[in-house]
Amino acid sequence: MYYWNVGNDHNMATGGLKRKNDSDNDVKAKKPNNFWKGGLLSSMNDPDLQVFSDEKITVIKDKYPKAKYHFLIMSKKNIPNLKSLKKEDIDLLKYMEEKGRELAKSSDAERQFRYGYHSIPSMSHLHLHVISQDFDSPCLKNKKHWNSFTTEYFVDSKDIIKTLEKTGKVEHESSHFTSLLKSELRCHVCKKEIKTIPALKTHIQQHSYKTRDT
Ligand code: AMP
Ligand code: ZN
Repeated sequence: MYYWNVGNDHNMATGGLKRKNDSDNDVKAKKPNNFWKGGLLSSMNDPDLQVFSDEKITVIKDKYPKAKYHFLIMSKKNIPNLKSLKKEDIDLLKYMEEKGRELAKSSDAERQFRYGYHSIPSMSHLHLHVISQDFDSPCLKNKKHWNSFTTEYFVDSKDIIKTLEKTGKVEHESSHFTSLLKSELRCHVCKKEIKTIPALKTHIQQHSYKTRDT
């Protein structure tokens, strides 16, 4: 039996998959497959980062969280990126989002979260971001970080699923998304333009993060 082990801080010192009544977990015992590349490959087996695993997905804490709660949900199936998605993956994407919502609820039921994908990811293998909307983290340091989670660069899971249902594929113009990272800094709640990241971080403290889930 599996259960969430989400911890409560960004230091991630105490995370780890726990599997009751078993000597070790299957994910750890498995040799990595070729499709798990780069940092996310090793992190999925890192007991300090992993919070959940089953036959379909692995969930880890983001190693450089951009908010109080920031998780990455990855499929066990080899899906390199959004472009590789096919209609047959719709149920899996729905399952990933459903698990993300469960995880958010068990982390802080009142806190607002978003569930989505970066239009141009930096890490290989498809990963769903589950991120609380407080953006309260020392790892959020620059305009690129901010804009990647607060502009259209961040695409909601629901929209990806809708597009896939409608057209059978997910395609986008990468130059449009790259330019979004250079946009002016704006508060994600009241849309006010703020000049610097420190000023923005001070500003967003006035907004309650305890609003309805989106
Ligand atoms: P993306 O831009 O969607 O590819 O985001 C990749 C995410 O992975 C970022 O939020 C990073 O903070 C996070 N990250 C980078 N390296 C690692 C790692 N080795 N383990 C876990 N998360 C990572
Ligand atoms: Zn504001």
